[in-house]
Amino acid sequence: MHKVPVGILGASGYAGRELCGLIAQHPALELAFAAANDQRGRRARIGASEVTYVATEDAPLNKAEVVFTALPAGEAAKLAPGALPMFKPAVKALSAEAVGKYALKFSWSDRHDLGIYSWFYLREVCPCAECTAARK
Ligand SMILES: [Zn+2]
Repeated sequence: MHKVPVGILGASGYAGRELCGLIAQHPALELAFAAANDQRGRRARIGASEVTYVATEDAPLNKAEVVFTALPAGEAAKLAPGALPMFKPAVKALSAEAVGKYALKFSWSDRHDLGIYSWFYLREVCPCAECTAARK
């Protein structure tokens, strides 16, 4: 099973340590890094696992799919804009092709094209006035 790599900034504080412990126990998550500037290079035992703190500027952000900041108030705002590229624009359909007569298959802007969407399902989620009225 793929585990989602998670990074924590401010990992040596109370909230950060709690997060490290929760992630260590979570079956679908793994700790990618634990950043704590005042503890850099030091090791800490959290639950059943041991972490080595890295400096915030050395945090391998590209290794994490999710980053939590547990930094003191105001510290997160000091990070350079773009330092935490967590926001991704909404995925959009780039193209669609028919699957038989009952569904569409989309190619999405995040480069995946798995999944087919039945006309029935698309009518159920369509926000247009005609489909909304038909659902009532
Ligand atoms: Zn519609």
